[in-house]
Amino acid sequence: MNLHEYQGKEILNSFGVRIQRGIVASTPDEAVEAAKKLTDQTGTSWYVVKAQVHAGGRGKGGGVKLAKNLEEVKSISDDILGMMLVTPQTSVEGKLVNQVLIAEDVYYPGEVETEEFYVSVLLNRATGRNMVMYSTEGGMDIETVAEETPHLIFTEEIDPATGVLPFQARKIAFNLGLSGNAFKEMTKFVTALYNAYVSSDSAMFEINPVLKTSDNKILAVDAKVTLDENALYRHKDYLEMRDVREENPIEVEAKAVGLNYVDLDGNVGCMVNGAGLAMGTMDLIKQAGGDPANFLDVGGTADAARVEAAFGIILKDPNVKAILVNIFGGIVRCDRVAQGVVDAYKSMGDKINVPIICRLQGTNAKEAKELIDNSGMEIISATEFQEAADKVQEVLA
Ligand code: GDP
Ligand code: MN
Repeated sequence: MNLHEYQGKEILNSFGVRIQRGIVASTPDEAVEAAKKLTDQTGTSWYVVKAQVHAGGRGKGGGVKLAKNLEEVKSISDDILGMMLVTPQTSVEGKLVNQVLIAEDVYYPGEVETEEFYVSVLLNRATGRNMVMYSTEGGMDIETVAEETPHLIFTEEIDPATGVLPFQARKIAFNLGLSGNAFKEMTKFVTALYNAYVSSDSAMFEINPVLKTSDNKILAVDAKVTLDENALYRHKDYLEMRDVREENPIEVEAKAVGLNYVDLDGNVGCMVNGAGLAMGTMDLIKQAGGDPANFLDVGGTADAARVEAAFGIILKDPNVKAILVNIFGGIVRCDRVAQGVVDAYKSMGDKINVPIICRLQGTNAKEAKELIDNSGMEIISATEFQEAADKVQEVLA
């Protein structure tokens, strides 16, 4: 589950990681109130107005702007709130901005130059260990750094039994070219950051940039946090951080009716029971030259109501040009599923406007095929897996 910057920073702050402080707002008036409060709390006189959407590169897209007084806070917030923010990480339509973070300006002038770094914590799948990835090239697109100057990206593997050891924290601060107070601050920063990552059961923390301020403080200017959904039961307080406005609306609807659905780019809708068979079905569609429009596991009870709900979800995707139903009747009998398909087809009427290829195998498969073939409906039945995939290609041709 992805979080907004302000939510990620809340988690960081709760584990003692220093952050650029801010207050979130949904209207220009709230933004001004937030700015006033922030000045009371921090003494800042300049502010950054930051669009809160689940996408990076907001600065480049005009979603991060400096405001030097309350009037500017108001006018900039007015501009950013409600805009469709387009960044290198969004679609061409962009993302609707519902909230802005009013943050303290941390790039104030002082005794030394500010410096930006990149620090992330994530799982190294090759070794099965968490690692700290870091670079002197902060504030830039890290993929570009990885491509053009890979020698400027460092990694430090962390032993799960010990966490970040003091020598590792010092090595990171040293490789980032720090000394004096900033060096000490960075060792504290990475240690706290790693602890926050582990304690919050996160899948990824990416802080870009980490800033060395002009008075040698180290803090997180940005925060990209992905929580591990499978661990959310241990963090009930994080559950309310879900912002469904940022998620695919069809997936949200499918989740609400208990269907396991993932939206994909192709044009063949899939209705399958069991995640393994669903994966196999997608593979076969691909092999036959097609492209799956979704992953959909209807689960064990493929009755008429569920089948109808699943058809409804699949057909919400305007790219779907054919639907392949591939159900294995183990505990659930195939004839019951077939009846479900026929009933759903009848009750949905002309809402089903694409060909359906139906393969039911397992208990009572023969009865199921007869039921489909004799239903008088335009459902194409198939017996073999390959045959089903080929028939999909035939109707698409
Ligand atoms: P991103 O573009 O989505 O990665 O958003 P960031 O939170 O990383 O902000 C983008 C850029 O805005 C940063 O790299 C900074 O250069 C700039 N920025 C962020 N906070 C401040 C601030 O407090 N003052 C100033 N002057 N610039 C800031
Ligand atoms: Mn950033």
